[in-house]
Amino acid sequence: MKTDQEMEFTKKFDKCPACGHSERLFGTIVAGLKERGLTDPNQDGCWEVISGRMISPEKEAKVNIGETVPGFSFGTDICSNCGCIYAPILQRLTIKKTPPPPEIHLPNRAERLRGVGIPQFNNPAMS
Ligand SMILES: [Zn+2]
Repeated sequence: MKTDQEMEFTKKFDKCPACGHSERLFGTIVAGLKERGLTDPNQDGCWEVISGRMISPEKEAKVNIGETVPGFSFGTDICSNCGCIYAPILQRLTIKKTPPPPEIHLPNRAERLRGVGIPQFNNPAMS
């Protein structure tokens, strides 16, 4: 069985699958913005980018930190010639499970009144 990394791929389609035209609505808008230096030069220019992982949150909870799960990403755009909506960019990804971000505890009202969780600053003028 292949690993998640061995299954990774990125495919780009530069022509509409319906009519073969190469101009896309959002692709041409972003190309114009790139020429003017008004957007990230690495941006592909899609209508929508959808990404995720192919595992339920319940099953992912059982995956160890550092292990990988398969994921995906694709961008859609609209053919400027025939209006066909298609995915010019398609990716199968590997997503490595990382530790959850640390929880931020904000002191509740009782804790604030007691000064718990409130940073104390040493002001020499006050001592
Ligand atoms: Zn087309």
